[in-house]
Amino acid sequence: MSSLENCPACGASATRSHPVLTAPFIAAYVLERPIEPCRLMICDDCGLWFFDRRYSDAEMAKLYGNYRGDGYFEVRHHFEPWYTRAFNDHLGRDPKEIAARNAATSAFLEESDDRKTFATILDYGGDSGQFMPPGLGGEKFVYELSDAPCVPGVTRIADKKDFAAEGYDLVMLCHVLEHAPDPASMLREMHAYLAGPEARLYVEVPYERGCNLKFAPPTDAYRAWLKFVTRLPAPLITLLDFYSSGFRDRFSLIPPLGFFKMHEHINFFDALSLKRALEATGYQVVHCATEGRCVRALAHRPA
Ligand SMILES: [Zn+2]
Repeated sequence: MSSLENCPACGASATRSHPVLTAPFIAAYVLERPIEPCRLMICDDCGLWFFDRRYSDAEMAKLYGNYRGDGYFEVRHHFEPWYTRAFNDHLGRDPKEIAARNAATSAFLEESDDRKTFATILDYGGDSGQFMPPGLGGEKFVYELSDAPCVPGVTRIADKKDFAAEGYDLVMLCHVLEHAPDPASMLREMHAYLAGPEARLYVEVPYERGCNLKFAPPTDAYRAWLKFVTRLPAPLITLLDFYSSGFRDRFSLIPPLGFFKMHEHINFFDALSLKRALEATGYQVVHCATEGRCVRALAHRPA
């Protein structure tokens, strides 16, 4: 894991930070060390929240190599007993969730742009291709390392060298950037996959920024508390994790004596930070908005 002071979206130096802990599941499964303090950085320039600790390539491979597979589930369920098998197996598979996501994507594309049809679509990291709205038409491809079978009408590309040399009319990058140690390099990589200035890049990330951190202040007393937490017996850490995560999920608040944890999401965007990340990597943003629990953007590369 390396350390980062500058904002990975806009490049400014982060002005504020809050003490946090590496998640017990991440510490065991990815980092292979005890939980430890790190920092949640806040960029006052663009608004991005991010952790100063970044995953190395090897750690990314450990975390996402068999993502949500049996080994992943067993370790995660051990450290987070509330993370159930049913939840794990239904993530991204629930027909209602898929239909709702596709309707929201279609609506956003519809209201954003004069371009409504795409002859070719690539969903980068798009699982089984279930999140390309059927109504978009066109030939659909998904770039996915896992061998999850594709939904009908979608072709899987497992190797980047098999990407169409002329690029794609629409490239989708959904729920990927929040996991990326270097989101700017990932956005730059997409340049090559767009079929010219008329092609569009659609980016979607979760909106998770509204967490109240007043009980996780950057003070010596709170840092000392976190240090103490790292030395507690494992069952107590699990209880404290449950209490903290529950409050964070339900009330968007880290409760007194709780902790904010570094888990799989390492970048927390809002509309401004996503726009700034796109502009800093050579895109012109057509439309960008926060809608409910999602931030969406449509962009292209000017000629
Ligand atoms: Zn920034």
